[in-house]
Amino acid sequence: MLTLHGSGVSQGISIGRAYVLRREQLEIPEYVIPRQYIDDELERFKTAIAAARQQLQHVRDHMPAGAPPETASLIDAHLLILGDAMISQAPIDIINEQQRNSEWVLKTQSEDLGRIFEAMHDPYLRAKKIDVDQVVDRILRNLLTTNEQDDEAMSNGQILVARDLTPADTVMLKQKRIRAFVTDLGGPISHTAILARSLGIPAIVSLHNATRFIRTGDKLVVDGKCGLLIAGEYKRIFSEYRRRQQQSLQTRRELDRIRAGRSITDDGQKIRLLANVELPADLKTAVKVHASGIGLYRTEFLFMNRPTAPTEEEQYRACLKVVKAFAGKPVTIRTLDLAADKQAANPALGLRAVRLCLHDISLFRPQLRAILRASAYGKVRMMIPMLSSLDELFHVLDLIKETESELKKQRKEFNHRMPIGGMIEVPAAAISADLFAPHLDFLSIGTNDLIQYTLAIDRSDDTVNYLYDPLHPSVLRLINNVIKAGKAAGIPVAMCGEMAGDARYTRLLLGMGLKEFSMHPSMLLEIKEIVRMSSFANLRSFAHKVLRSRDVDGLRTLIDKMNAESNVT
Ligand code: PEP
Ligand code: MG
Repeated sequence: MLTLHGSGVSQGISIGRAYVLRREQLEIPEYVIPRQYIDDELERFKTAIAAARQQLQHVRDHMPAGAPPETASLIDAHLLILGDAMISQAPIDIINEQQRNSEWVLKTQSEDLGRIFEAMHDPYLRAKKIDVDQVVDRILRNLLTTNEQDDEAMSNGQILVARDLTPADTVMLKQKRIRAFVTDLGGPISHTAILARSLGIPAIVSLHNATRFIRTGDKLVVDGKCGLLIAGEYKRIFSEYRRRQQQSLQTRRELDRIRAGRSITDDGQKIRLLANVELPADLKTAVKVHASGIGLYRTEFLFMNRPTAPTEEEQYRACLKVVKAFAGKPVTIRTLDLAADKQAANPALGLRAVRLCLHDISLFRPQLRAILRASAYGKVRMMIPMLSSLDELFHVLDLIKETESELKKQRKEFNHRMPIGGMIEVPAAAISADLFAPHLDFLSIGTNDLIQYTLAIDRSDDTVNYLYDPLHPSVLRLINNVIKAGKAAGIPVAMCGEMAGDARYTRLLLGMGLKEFSMHPSMLLEIKEIVRMSSFANLRSFAHKVLRSRDVDGLRTLIDKMNAESNVT
């Protein structure tokens, strides 16, 4: 029996056969085609293009109901690229003229195209090079005949084993009926991991050697909670895991009892449990678990997998959908948090989120207008990600003011008092939260990035995952500082990073005075149950002890104690 341990990033147990996705760099041969075989070579190239079109069309036609709209946009974008003369016609001329093989010509052509994209001034368009690369890769795999196999096997509802998956790949998994996925690389708070939770499929990342030891067809058990992968034919183990699957279903049913119950501590403190929304499916789950509102709507998923940015109207409609689903409840819409260039050496430290928006105002304005317009229909709050300096904040506030006057002139409705909040996820902002707070209506702590930047660990790098620690004293001190700053300024403080939906930290955060938790809706009932069994006032002294603790082991023992007592008194 083979067992591998990684980071369980999306709960649930899945039992099934492996499909190992091998996406190693393709070896592209170069050879001369004798003149008499040129027609055959041209035919080969055209067949590969036609096959790519057919594969994309097939995926497009078999899209299950409820698949995120961005999935269809991605396919359309890829079909457009495929039809572009630079991809489908220019290589034909070059094969003819230079008598070189199709793969080589296409590869050279795509490198030339890549250079054009890299020289583009617009960072958003520059990032689209990745879509061209994906289309070229598909044609190359057709020429080298490895593609159909992938698509076919992946549509059979198997467990996908891959070296790594991008968020864009992950969005497509559900549509391919993948039951679970495991990867060698990746971190527990990477966007890929967050998406796995949204899609509701068990997932483990950071297994290091899964693609090395697992073969397609191997029988696997994926335990997404414990991060355990078991490979081999073991009847007793399978029946044990089937029993656990049943048990976890039972636990879910039991938690369902408190769906409509109030989120209030044992001593009467109301706690707001909000939902994080990425994909449309999250919205349904959020409604189902009676979330008190949306604490984080990640709008960047509207921008992914498509050749151009969504229009103001499209963004407005998307916002409205969320607002209407949560009528009368707060809906926190985060402005775009996208990195300009996925190919950059370190996009996390580069032109990302509010930096990108301020750099490319033409990208930002339609979103500001869309959010403001949606604010006429509900309790919309706007939230700015990745603030690091006050100047940045003032610049955004000025832009919002300008947009408001523009809308006023155009007689478009909006809420003139729409609350504006800041995400505190850069240590500089957490340390000086008291400087930000007076200019904002609320703060929200993004622990995913706050931990990444405080501990200097790339959140998607599996080799440094072991350092990821929400209980690191520096992280706890920063969180405490933000909560205190919010309290002093009289504004609410929420937490919307993954830490807020992790039951191990709920009581500690309550003890630190946190009253708003925003998490993936699938976690909400578990957290509600803990809230209802806790005493807000009594947890305070525990939290003080934790914050004062000079001994890291002692700190963990204290937290275990806090969690063990069913009603901390
Ligand atoms: C965070 O950083 O904690 C957060 C909620 O934002 P994201 O995970 O989208 O970066
Ligand atoms: Mg973040």
